[in-house]
Amino acid sequence: MTLIYQSTRDKTNQTTASQAILQGLAVDGGLYVPTQTPKVTLDFETLKNATYQEVATLILSAFLDDFTSEEIAYCVAQAYDSKFDDPQIAPLVKLNGQYNLELFHGNTIAFKDMALSILPYLMTTAAQKHGVAREIVILTATSGDTGKAAMAGFANVPNTKIVVFYPKDGVSKIQERQMTTQIGENVKVIAIDGNFDHAQTTVKEMFNNENLRDKMFANNKQFSSANSMNIGRLVPQIAYYVYAYAQLVKSGEIANGEAINFTVPTGNFGNILAAYYAKQIGLPVAKLICASNENNVLTDFFRTGVYDKNREFFVTTSPSMDILVSSNLERLIFHLTGDNDTATAAFMASLNATGDYKITDEMLGKLSDFYADFANEAEISAQISATFKTDKYVEDPHTAVASAVYKKYIAQTADQTTTVVVSTASPYKFPKVVVESLATVTGEEDDFDLVKRLAEISSTPLPKAVSELFDAPVLHQTVVATEEMQKAVEAYLELK
Ligand SMILES: *Cc1c(COP(=O)(O)O)cnc(C)c1O
Repeated sequence: MTLIYQSTRDKTNQTTASQAILQGLAVDGGLYVPTQTPKVTLDFETLKNATYQEVATLILSAFLDDFTSEEIAYCVAQAYDSKFDDPQIAPLVKLNGQYNLELFHGNTIAFKDMALSILPYLMTTAAQKHGVAREIVILTATSGDTGKAAMAGFANVPNTKIVVFYPKDGVSKIQERQMTTQIGENVKVIAIDGNFDHAQTTVKEMFNNENLRDKMFANNKQFSSANSMNIGRLVPQIAYYVYAYAQLVKSGEIANGEAINFTVPTGNFGNILAAYYAKQIGLPVAKLICASNENNVLTDFFRTGVYDKNREFFVTTSPSMDILVSSNLERLIFHLTGDNDTATAAFMASLNATGDYKITDEMLGKLSDFYADFANEAEISAQISATFKTDKYVEDPHTAVASAVYKKYIAQTADQTTTVVVSTASPYKFPKVVVESLATVTGEEDDFDLVKRLAEISSTPLPKAVSELFDAPVLHQTVVATEEMQKAVEAYLELK
């Protein structure tokens, strides 16, 4: 039986997993969700000895069931290989009072690698299945992290190209160097004289430009998107929740069947939603603790049932969580309505029109799986310092948000349940705030000085992803005005 996916805004828009991956968003603007919870046998007496690749294969085969087992095996093998600097792929580290699930051992030392390492293979495999011979061109605007992770994933993947735009003065030095040194025959990095919103808006315009689409088709190419609404990013993320549980059973930290909590530093709601799906397929999960920074729109939502993006936007030291519209929440809303597409579409229309919506009391009542809180800048910095004191372990600011919120949760509930803190980035990716939390920093030190200092303070080796930046040749130097973005794409793709 093939699992059918449906749009959250119009249930008559149905498709298979591979088609959903090719499409990204549904044509009605909704997100694809499975019509049923797939059956997965989670036998932890066996799974405790499974490799990450084996767990990923189990999950992907269940959710993406129109792929053959050979196709899944190929995608998993290409994605989770020695590009990860830890053979466990997602190692679990025991700290004082919590376990940190490290999702930052891939190409760009942040959690987006977990899904973006495999998405290119899922996409090209799906294209082949459906006889799409056109080259797939990924267009992305990035504020720093996603673009690099997407490029690293798509670099040299046959029959794809990727073009990434970033705001010239809007990313950190390390982030800029990461992008401008990206290797790959099929990657193009372009800085723009404008901010992230300009880049993002123009990319959306290119996606919706019918003339451009026709021109692409005429040149045997089509655009696609690697954003986190694609189920090809969501589904691979379910695997590490199952894997983490298996590791806890294996090490005897929990009994098989015992429920555990996950605390997830949240932005677009993709990562924590994967944990929710893990629970739906039978993973013993007690609470899903949704941790936000000062952009705490989700904290308010879980407490009151009102989602309201009309509020001040804060630029924080955990930038990947600086988000006011958490796109993947739409999938949870859909499930809370009892899979009601009309109701979901109405909430999203309200969000679009007025910037807010209020769910029903019945829906609010179904949120008992979740707990939500946030940490401000001072609390994040204090947490980085506290974790280092107790454990000689350095957390990045995103992970520190989760740890700080978990501490608040324990203080409020006295819950003793074993808890995994999902650790989404290496501290080497955010050296400034981390070193400032642990030591004194003089104004003269730039990111490259700071990573060296962090290595000294923490007695940990520089990850390859950082050390190789010091003398990697700069390969991309194109800068264009926002108005010239489309022209730059057409020139790179040699559209005729
Ligand atoms: C993207 C990101 C997050 C937020 O994850 P969502 O799936 O968007 O909720 C948290 N931390 C880091 C480091 C990230 O890159």
